[in-house]
Amino acid sequence: MPATDQALADGVRRRDRRALAKAITLLESTRADHRARADALLDALLPHTGNAVRIGLSGVPGVGKSTFIEALGLQLIAQGHRVAVLAVDPSSSVSGGSILGDKTRMEQLSVRDEAFIRPSPASGTLGGVAEKTREVLLLCEAAGHDVVIVETVGVGQSETAVAGMTDLFVLLQLPNAGDDLQAIKKGVMELADLVVINKADLDPAAATRAQAQITSALRVFGQQGNPAHGTAAPVMQASGLKGEGVAAFWALVMQHVEARRASGAFALRRQRQAQDWLWDLVRNRLLADFRAHPAVKRELPAALAEVSAARSAPSVAARRLLQLFESNNS
Ligand code: GDP
Repeated sequence: MPATDQALADGVRRRDRRALAKAITLLESTRADHRARADALLDALLPHTGNAVRIGLSGVPGVGKSTFIEALGLQLIAQGHRVAVLAVDPSSSVSGGSILGDKTRMEQLSVRDEAFIRPSPASGTLGGVAEKTREVLLLCEAAGHDVVIVETVGVGQSETAVAGMTDLFVLLQLPNAGDDLQAIKKGVMELADLVVINKADLDPAAATRAQAQITSALRVFGQQGNPAHGTAAPVMQASGLKGEGVAAFWALVMQHVEARRASGAFALRRQRQAQDWLWDLVRNRLLADFRAHPAVKRELPAALAEVSAARSAPSVAARRLLQLFESNNS
């Protein structure tokens, strides 16, 4: 590794914010030479990663995510932690605008030396955004952040991506969520390791109702056999604005982490995530190569049309295309 990049790695390790920001810029670059340098940097820093509690946090816009994260972050810093907040915002690549991070958020947290807040990378697909965020997460760990929160919005597939890079996935709900359980997407509920009824101060009675309804809904999901949960995920109430329930939240997070560490599930989830990450990259790259292959490119529209019109079996069409691809790739 060139001396300047070694200095960058050392800077990240020394918790120099500018070095961390520069390293992230290098990772997010699309230039091939930058990518090679970023890979070397990640390799060098990898032994210093893995030590954070990685928390995924999702909820619809306005549920109070940034308010909650700020209250939590400030409390954790007071206890001696260093907190990083990253965002996965699929809207930033689709519309050019973002749901997360366009306004000045977490004003008190962002000025703290012990905090590092990074908006969502805006690189094309959700897969691309998630990919960069995973790498940034590692850099933040190398820079001594022992709590990393990856925030996302309740739209699209971003929750699955965030749950796939964190140790536990938290869902923030509004107090009226229980009134309309249809509105709660079952798939997302199944990802949740912890559900927080936020803004409980607004309507304590509704919050208590929502807590009971979501608790029983989760039990039903649990009974249907969510392998991630031996038991149903806990449901709690909080008010990020008033700072209520934030300490209790952290206690539940630590309880979850300790229990998973003791059972081995914690390490297993990380191993699986690391393998999935590798396969994601290989799959995406192979697919891109396949689509870019001249003969495949030429034949693909006709093959798709044939398959759509039921004039050829998908399996036969796929095999033909793969043969074209492999014939000048072997
Ligand atoms: P986000 O879009 O999920 O990040 O939501 P924000 O944190 O930006 O909060 C949206 C609005 O709800 C803001 O006006 C906050 O002041 C308000 N808010 C956030 N948390 C609470 C809470 O616990 N109680 C009440 N009453 N309002 C809150």
